[in-house]
Amino acid sequence: MRDRIPHPEFLITRFAPAPTGYLHLGHVLNAIYVWDIARASGPDAQVLLRIEDHDRMRCRPEFGAALLEDLAWLGFAADGELTRQSERSAFYERALDGLRARGLTYACDCSRTDIGSGRYPGTCRDKNLRESDGTGVRVRLDSVVERFDDLRLGPQEQRPSEQCGDLLARDRHGNWTYQFAVVVDDWLQNVNLVIRGEDLLDSTGRQIQLSRLVGREQPPAFLHHELLMKTAAQKLSKSDGDTGVRDLRAKGWSAEAVIDRATSLAGLSREDVRLRTRMTGRP
Ligand SMILES: [Zn+2]
Repeated sequence: MRDRIPHPEFLITRFAPAPTGYLHLGHVLNAIYVWDIARASGPDAQVLLRIEDHDRMRCRPEFGAALLEDLAWLGFAADGELTRQSERSAFYERALDGLRARGLTYACDCSRTDIGSGRYPGTCRDKNLRESDGTGVRVRLDSVVERFDDLRLGPQEQRPSEQCGDLLARDRHGNWTYQFAVVVDDWLQNVNLVIRGEDLLDSTGRQIQLSRLVGREQPPAFLHHELLMKTAAQKLSKSDGDTGVRDLRAKGWSAEAVIDRATSLAGLSREDVRLRTRMTGRP
């Protein structure tokens, strides 16, 4: 895999939970992949820990503290300093300035109700609205196909301008969006492999395009892993109960048992994951 990672020479990946709730088994499966792949890749590989608290309305500091505590209890130790997106506004601002200077942004005053959950149709693209407190900022996407080779799922093709339309970088309330913050952070922190669940696969093309627009020469590589399943056809959700690490700890589960539970709910044995990560991380 190293030949796909031109700079730096060793693997840098990250574990990046949002403090909108407690650590659950979905996070645990992600952590297993992240740390196993990093450790299999060599002694210089790094796992960065980033708290994705970009959304001031949904995140709570007590969840952040609990995430760190549960992660340490499970035995996952990160390399380098912990970063919090809430403290990185200046970086996002600078990246947005760069896009603005090249005419790649515009102000948008649409509300969530105006747009719904589908593709943003470009309502404000040519309105020339002035950026103010009540407007969000969008980034103009090119109508191109993004191709990438997922390390588990193989070759992928996505057309972000048709999937989601112009990307919101900062919303009307001044919150940086997940898509924008994560791309800037992965770029500035030299993350060269992103390991995450399949539910984020659709975001990858737009993140690759955005990383190119902000000035990153080479996007990271991606691996999207399985999601936890209630049955073979039904995804497990937090509301299904017994998925919170805190709750399982309170019931007397060991860290090893929690880790085994996460892999088995993904239909894997611990050995499957080890085998897979050894293959992925092989230099
Ligand atoms: Zn708009």
